[in-house]
Formats: sequence, C-alpha cells, structure tokens
Amino acid sequence: MLKILVRLYLVIIVAYAGALLFIPDSIVGLFQERFMAYNLDQAKGVQSLIVRQFHQAPREQWPAVEQDLASAFAPLEVKLLRMDQAELSADEQARLEQGQYAVRIAEWGYYETVLAPLDPQWLVRLHAPPDPLDINLLSWGVTVLIGAAMLGCLLLWVWPHWRDLERLKETARRLGQGQMAERTHISPHSNIGELAGVFDTMASDLERHVNQQRELLNAVSHELRTPLTRLDFGLVLLFDEVPPASRKRLLELVGHVRELDELVLELLSYSRLYNADHARERVEVSLLELVDSVLGGFAEELDGRGIQWEVRAEGNLPRFVLDPRLTARAVQNLVRNAMRYCDESLLLRLRLEDDGACLLTVEDDGIGIPVEERERIFQPFYRLDRSRDRNTGGFGLGLAISRRSIEGQGGTLTVAQSALGGAQFRIRLPAG
Ligand code: ADP
Repeated sequence: MLKILVRLYLVIIVAYAGALLFIPDSIVGLFQERFMAYNLDQAKGVQSLIVRQFHQAPREQWPAVEQDLASAFAPLEVKLLRMDQAELSADEQARLEQGQYAVRIAEWGYYETVLAPLDPQWLVRLHAPPDPLDINLLSWGVTVLIGAAMLGCLLLWVWPHWRDLERLKETARRLGQGQMAERTHISPHSNIGELAGVFDTMASDLERHVNQQRELLNAVSHELRTPLTRLDFGLVLLFDEVPPASRKRLLELVGHVRELDELVLELLSYSRLYNADHARERVEVSLLELVDSVLGGFAEELDGRGIQWEVRAEGNLPRFVLDPRLTARAVQNLVRNAMRYCDESLLLRLRLEDDGACLLTVEDDGIGIPVEERERIFQPFYRLDRSRDRNTGGFGLGLAISRRSIEGQGGTLTVAQSALGGAQFRIRLPAG
C-alpha cells in the first residue's frame, strides 16, 4: 500500500512541476496580444514620466538625466540607448518609429523591459533585473507549500481507503490461513464498502462450504468406525475357525482393517482441529520437558533402530504458555517423520528468539524435501512421489495436523534444509 501512495505522490509531484514549467508559458504564448496590451497600459504612466524628464532637458544633458533617473529608480535600470544599440525586433522597431512604447514580457506574463522613443535616434529603456535570491526563494517556497498542502489533502483523502484496503488484505490473509470466521467489518459508507460487502459474502459462502465438507468428513469418519471395529473383531474371532493355511491371509486382512481404522482416527483428529468449539488449553509448561516426554515415547524404537538423537536447548529457556496436547501432537508427528526419513541421526533444538518467541526445530540427515514441495507437503493427503509406495506408512495427514495444531495457537510451522543434510522443520511459537 505504501508503494501505491509513494507512486501516486511521485506522479503528482512530477505533474505539478511540469505544469508549473509549461502552463504559464503556454498561456502567455496563447494570449500574447492581450498580455502585451495589458503590460503597455501598466508601463504607460511611469514611462511617460521618464520621457518627460528627458524632454525637459536639452539633448546634451540627457546623459546626466539618465544618471539621475537611474539612481532614483534603482534597482530598476534606466538606460539611454541609440536605436541601433538596443537590438530591437522588427515589431519593436515599427512601434518605436510610430512614437509608441514597446514591452518585452518575461515569465508569468509580466513585463521585464519597456522601451520608449525620445527622438528618431534615441530611446530610453527601463529594465527590471532578476529578483534577488531571497525573494526568488520565497516565491518558490510559496509554490512548494501550495504543492505540499495539496499532497496533505490528498493524504487525508487516501487515508481511509488505505486503512480499509489494509483491512481487506489482512482479512484475505487470515481466511487463507483457515480462519474462516474472519470478516472485513468495513463500513458500507466507505468508498470500498461495496467491494468489502461482496468480499464478506464470499467469505461467508466459503465458510459454509468448508464447514459442510468438514461436517461430512466428520460424520463419515464416525460412521466408518463402528463397522470397522466390528469387522476387526469378527476377523479375529474367525482366526481359530479357519484352516491354518488361510490364517496368514486372515492376519493380512486384519492388518488392512486396522490401517483403515488408523486413517479414520487421523481424519477425525484433523477435522476436530478445525472445530470452532474446540477449546484450546493454555497452560504454562517447560518446552524442554514436553520435548523429552515426546521423545520418551519413541525411545524404544530409536534405540532399536540405532538412530542417534540429540536435544540441544538454550540454558535460560523460560516456561511457555501453550496448549501442551496440541504442541506435543505436532512434535510427535515431526519426530516420527524424522525417524522414518533419517539415515542415522536426528536433532531437536530449542532456542529463544529476540522477540521472546520460541523456536523448536526438528531435523534429520535423510533425503530432505525439494524446495518446490516445501509448501505442498503441509496439504492433507499430500505425499511425495518417492514415498507413494507406502513403505514409510502414513496417509499424508501428519504434517497437515502438525501445522494446524501450531497455527491454532498463533504459531507457524515451516520447513527448510538442515545442515545435517535432510529436512529441518521449524516450529515458532509466539511469546505469551
Ligand atoms: P505421512 O504421514 O504420509 O508421512 P506427512 O504429512 O507427515 O505424511 O508428510 C507428508 C510428506 O512429506 C511425506 O510423504 C514425506 O514424503 C514428506 N516428509 C515429511 N517429513 C519428512 C522428512 N523429515 N524428510 C523427508 N521427507 C519428509
């Protein structure tokens, strides 16, 4: 927005300077005759007094009269000239020969020089020298102040538009982040009130559609759980009744059913994260303890697979107010992924940022994530091609759940390249 204002100001300043430069000259050029006549009228009185002074003295004393008048009229210059010394234009020559005055017009249409004939050979020239520097500065100061006043008025006019457009932008950003209840609250009387109204209606429609989809997902997931549990139970009961040759097949079927059940559970927790009534907990916890307890849950697997892991935390970490369940869920998913994709080591770091926020990173030495995929992996059900064979397990919901858990608390979850060679996931939780 600031860019638009700066551009607008630049355009206006250039246009104003251009107008000052060209418009007065063009107007004077267009109405040359009228300006000439006006200036001749203006100069007539003074000029006839000067001419009378010369005519009252004999010609030999004209230089003395010239000196007298020059000192009386200073800083205006009075000069006695021969006709051929005065560099007259044809027009001026003709006027002077007819005994008339001639004027030369300067900037803004005011006369700068007046020529009056004394006799067929001599004329007297009254010339206004350029304004002194301070007067020049003052008159430019007036012009600049008028321009500044115009820009100030423009700012007063632009300000409410700017504020409303900023609000529109912020609302669009929050909607994009999934805060579907966000509205612009811009007055209908604003100049962009109509646009804001359409935007808010669109936001309401979007919210309704998204809610319908979530409710559907939630309902379907709930409905699926009961038959899946029955299926699992029924298959297990069948185990003793089927011939031993078919038991392996039966166990595979049980595995598939449990995988489906897991998916449904993940779906339920994902859609619950979006539930508006979902009350977030706010508890003061030590992040180091929280990370330790998450890692504790994976200790057996980590040791079993010989993965080297380390937690590096700054010594002076304060306690943080956050939702421990959601944060632990996010960290669990990141650690589980790091374990799946690492070669042999993973590292967790806890650091306090300058603004009081806490940065928690989970990184590994695995294959990492290509730059162009780094935003997409946070979309639900998005899995990178190389893991589609499902060797690594998972449904592509883990990172979506993690991001939602962190953003729901006002934080961010992003991914970058780790110095270890693999992916580095960064959770940033704001202070307070
Ligand atoms: P899944 O449960 O299938 O792993 P996620 O949402 O947790 O789903 O992850 C999405 C995709 O991101 C995964 O399919 C995987 O390709 C990629 N990914 C996640 N974590 C890592 C990691 N630490 N290293 C490399 N790739 C990763």
